[in-house]
Amino acid sequence: MSATTSALVIGGGIAGPVTATALRMAGIDATVHEAYPEPSEGIGGALAIAPNGMAALGIVGTDEAVREAALAITGQSMSMAGHSLGRLRGLEGVEPQRMIGRGDLHRVLHERAVQAGVRFEYGRRLVGVDEGEDDVTARFADGSTATAGVLIGADGVRSTVRTLIDPGAPAAGYTGLLGFQGYLDAGDDLDVEPGIITFAFGRRAYYLYWRMADGRVTWGVNLPSKRYLSLAEARSVPAETWLRTIRETYAGDVPGEALAAGTHAGSLDVTGAIHIMPPVPHWHRGRMVLVGDAVHAPSNSTGQGASLAVESAVELARCLRDLPDPSSAFAAYEGLRRARVESITRRGARLNRTKTPGPVGRQVMRVVMPAIMRRMDVEKTMGPELRHRIPWTTPVPARRRRELPRLDSNQ
Ligand SMILES: Cc1cc2nc3c(=O)[nH]c(=O)nc-3n(C[C@H](O)[C@H](O)[C@H](O)COP(=O)(O)OP(=O)(O)OC[C@H]3O[C@@H](n4cnc5c(N)ncnc54)[C@H](O)[C@@H]3O)c2cc1C
Repeated sequence: MSATTSALVIGGGIAGPVTATALRMAGIDATVHEAYPEPSEGIGGALAIAPNGMAALGIVGTDEAVREAALAITGQSMSMAGHSLGRLRGLEGVEPQRMIGRGDLHRVLHERAVQAGVRFEYGRRLVGVDEGEDDVTARFADGSTATAGVLIGADGVRSTVRTLIDPGAPAAGYTGLLGFQGYLDAGDDLDVEPGIITFAFGRRAYYLYWRMADGRVTWGVNLPSKRYLSLAEARSVPAETWLRTIRETYAGDVPGEALAAGTHAGSLDVTGAIHIMPPVPHWHRGRMVLVGDAVHAPSNSTGQGASLAVESAVELARCLRDLPDPSSAFAAYEGLRRARVESITRRGARLNRTKTPGPVGRQVMRVVMPAIMRRMDVEKTMGPELRHRIPWTTPVPARRRRELPRLDSNQ
C-alpha cells in the first residue's frame, strides 16, 4: 500500500498529463506544472502512436478519443529513388499504428486529465527544488513554489529535473537532423496509397510521407544539419529560406522533389532538432523521478517516443500505487522499464545510421534491402515492441523491485 499521497508533475506535454491521470486513478493527488503560459494544443505536426502506446492509453481511458482523431496506418513501405525496397504489414491481431496531430493528442490527454481531477498550472518553469525528509518543494521561475510527496520530471528531452537528480547526467544527443513537416493540398498527382507510410531514402536526405484522411499528403523532412538549432532558432529562420534548402536537398528525388515543390511556406512546420537520449545512469534520486523523453527519447526513427512515454507514465503510477515508499516504487519502475526503452533506443540509433547512406551504401541497400524485407519475420522483429502490455490491475510485487524484465516478456 502506497504512502505517497501527492505528486508534482513537471511538464504538460505527453508524459505529464498521462502520468497525472494514472496517479489520480491510483488515488494519488497530482498537479501538472507546465512552463508554457497555456496548453500547447495548436503546436506541432503529426506523430505516430504504436499499438503498445494505444494499449497504455487505453488504461487511462484515452484510446477511443485518440482513434477518433487519428489516421490508421496499416502498412509500411520503404523506397529509394522511387523504387520500392519492400513493404511490411502490421502484426496479426494487433491494431494499426495511429497517426495523430500533436495538438489533437495534447487536447485529448489534457481533457481526460482534467476529467480525472488533475490540476494544471501554466507559466510555471521549474528552476530548482528543496528536498525535505517527507516531501519535496519545487521552485519556479516566477518565484512561486509547490510542495508534494514526490516530484516527477516529465519535462522533455532537455529536462531540468534530470540535472537536479544528477548534475552529471548526460544531455540529449543531437542526431545531426532537423525535422520539418510539410502538407500538400493538391497531392492527387502523387502515387501515395492511403493507409501506407513510406520511408524514403533520398540522395542527400531521408524523408517519410503518407496520405491524410482528407486526401492531402503529409511528409516529414529529416534535413541534415551539422549545426544544432533550438526550436526557437529554427523557427526564427523564414519558412521561405528553409523551403529553398529543402528543395535543393531533395532535388532529383522521386517523389521527394515533387513533395518539396508542392509544399509552400505556409504549409511547412518546423518540428525541431531530432534528439536521441543516451542511457541515463540515474532515473531517480530521493523523491524525484523521470518519465518520458526526459529519461528515454528513442529518436523519431522508432515511431515509439510518445508510446514509450505513455507506457512509462502508466507504469510509474502503478508502482507508486502498489509500493510502500517512493524509493521502492522508483526502483521497481526503473526495473520494469530500463531494458525495454534502452533496447528500442538502440534500434533507433541503428536506423539513424542508415538514413544517409553514401553512394556505395545506396547500391548495397538497393540490392540487399528487398531480400531482407521479404524474409523479415515481423513477429520476431517487432512483436516484443508492439505487443507489450502493462498489467495495470495486477499489483507490482515488492520482490520484483530489482528485477530487470526480459524485453520479450509480456508480463
Ligand atoms: C520531429 C519529431 C517527430 C516525432 N515523431 C514521433 C512519432 O511519430 N511517434 C512518436 O511516438 N514520437 C515521435 N516523436 C517524439 C515525441 O514527440 C516525444 O517522444 C514525446 O513528445 C515525449 O513526450 P514528453 O511528455 O516526454 O515530452 P514533451 O512532449 O517534450 O513535453 C515536455 C513538456 O515539459 C515542458 N517543460 C520543459 N521544461 C520545463 C520546466 N523546466 N518546467 C516546466 N515545464 C517544462 C515543456 O514545455 C513540454 O510541454 C517525434 C519527435 C520529433 C521531434
